[in-house]
Amino acid sequence: MFAYTRLPEKDCRSRTRGRVRNLQQHSLRRPRPLKRRKTMAGLLERDFCSEQALLQHGGKLFIDDKWLDATSGATLDVYDPATGSVIAKVAAGDTEDVDLAVRAARRAFENGAWSKLTPSERGRLLWKIADLLERDAAEFARIESIDNGKPITMAQGDVTLAIDMFRYMAGWATKITGTTTPLSLGFEHHSFTIREPVGVVGQIIPWNFPLLMAAWKLAPALAAGCTVVLKLAEQTPLTGLKLGELFQEAGCPAGAVNIISGFGETAGAAIAAHPGIDKVAFTGSTEVGKMIVRAAMGNLKKVTLELGGKSPVIVFNDADLEAASAGAAAGIFYNQGQVCTAGSRLYVHKSAFDRVVADVADTAGKIRLGQGLNPDTQMGPLVSDEQLGRVLGFIGAGQDQGATIVAGGERHGDAGYFVKPTVLTNTSRDMTVVREEIFGPVIVAEPFGDDDLDKIAAIANDTEYGLAASVWTKDISKAHKMARKIKSGTVWVNCHNVYDAALAFGGYKQSGWGREMGEYATQNYTEVKAVTFKL
Ligand code: NAP
Ligand code: MG
Repeated sequence: MFAYTRLPEKDCRSRTRGRVRNLQQHSLRRPRPLKRRKTMAGLLERDFCSEQALLQHGGKLFIDDKWLDATSGATLDVYDPATGSVIAKVAAGDTEDVDLAVRAARRAFENGAWSKLTPSERGRLLWKIADLLERDAAEFARIESIDNGKPITMAQGDVTLAIDMFRYMAGWATKITGTTTPLSLGFEHHSFTIREPVGVVGQIIPWNFPLLMAAWKLAPALAAGCTVVLKLAEQTPLTGLKLGELFQEAGCPAGAVNIISGFGETAGAAIAAHPGIDKVAFTGSTEVGKMIVRAAMGNLKKVTLELGGKSPVIVFNDADLEAASAGAAAGIFYNQGQVCTAGSRLYVHKSAFDRVVADVADTAGKIRLGQGLNPDTQMGPLVSDEQLGRVLGFIGAGQDQGATIVAGGERHGDAGYFVKPTVLTNTSRDMTVVREEIFGPVIVAEPFGDDDLDKIAAIANDTEYGLAASVWTKDISKAHKMARKIKSGTVWVNCHNVYDAALAFGGYKQSGWGREMGEYATQNYTEVKAVTFKL
């Protein structure tokens, strides 16, 4: 019933990051032959120039309201992950470009146009960005789908969530307040607190939700009155740069928003270490998150981190098993599994285990893989050849350690970076596939026999991560108890991967520091000042 294919042995870490480190400036990624390819009728007959043309400003850096080449002249190639061909070139910003951007952001913050805007004016600017994004939603979704590989319907969903985030945070700009505080010293003093923007903020985002991550970062920082230097992921810079065009069109004051494409080891590291940056906000791997913390020590920047996860999906035998199986499949296969909250560990009561695993495997086998712009596509490619190698490496390591593949387990096709949705059983808790974030469409499934909720929670909590979890049951009391026992920033009951601009999001343990979205996000970007008067 299920495909079972032995993969070549691979060290799952060996491909990570090596390529970037070895290459020097000027077209930092190894050039590959351009392939002109035929795609679905009329959709696109694509070559390098047509994607480049999507960027009005030619893939330049957006610094101080100007579009600039990297100071070094370096560019980086952007790939279509469905084919592996180059679709655009963008500037590869480096230390000097970050420095330019930080100076511009500092000017705008200290005495420039941004600091003179009222909260209401900041709110209106954010609302305007949402309106412009809504106007251009189809184009942003198309570019996102091409750049990241994700199905167009999912890219459309990302754009909608990004619009929501700008609108939601537009509202917060006028609602960031302090408190009046009664002092036990007596009645001779009057004290109150005010929340002030933290200053110049550096933000570093990953490639899995390029536009949405930019919105999650920019909107609360700007609502709070900070100015920003944002670094996009090297794999997916196109929608982030395009967002810069909207800030310009909306009349955003020069220097308030600066957007840089470039590599983590250069531009990203320069942001994390820059003495002119007051706070750094990072989303990405736990490994790089720790590097950010070390680099931020120089001037003791405030740091918030949204890091990896290994989120459990816990299915009790009293659950609606059909809904739970569908939810578990969507929870891991959505966005090719490249989601920090992906439900990558499935725990099912032993009496329902075979049925749920068979359902998830059946779904996996039916998912239509293809190019993102094809409306029939349900799952696109992984974002890069690096990620392809990494995910296949994990699957191979799982097999070597004794796991059984009940669905997928191999590459799909020989062009692009597709991996079949994969379900593994017979895993144990010491295996790398169970312990490490794979960031691909791979789920490990294990039965539990116990009805003791503490023991089940202990299994779910047996991870260095603590980002999210879902619990599937019809027993409301059991659901509440489990929600409290699980150590993670989000617990979903009878659903998975539900996000809202108003809802706090972030991780326990090594999944991060701080919370994004909701009121919490604005707090990340403010300092509290206590003011006391002697009356
Ligand atoms: P990553 O390196 O952590 O990428 C996140 C961002 O950090 C990117 O903009 C990256 O730049 C930048 N960066 C890299 N090294 C840096 C440094 N030394 N200083 C400052 N910034 C730096 O993640 P990745 O390499 O893209 O993916 C590797 C693995 O990380 C994935 O397989 C996945 O397991 C995990 N990951 C997790 C999340 C999440 O949300 N939990 C997101 C992405 C990746 P570049 O664009 O040049 O890399
Ligand atoms: Mg990277």
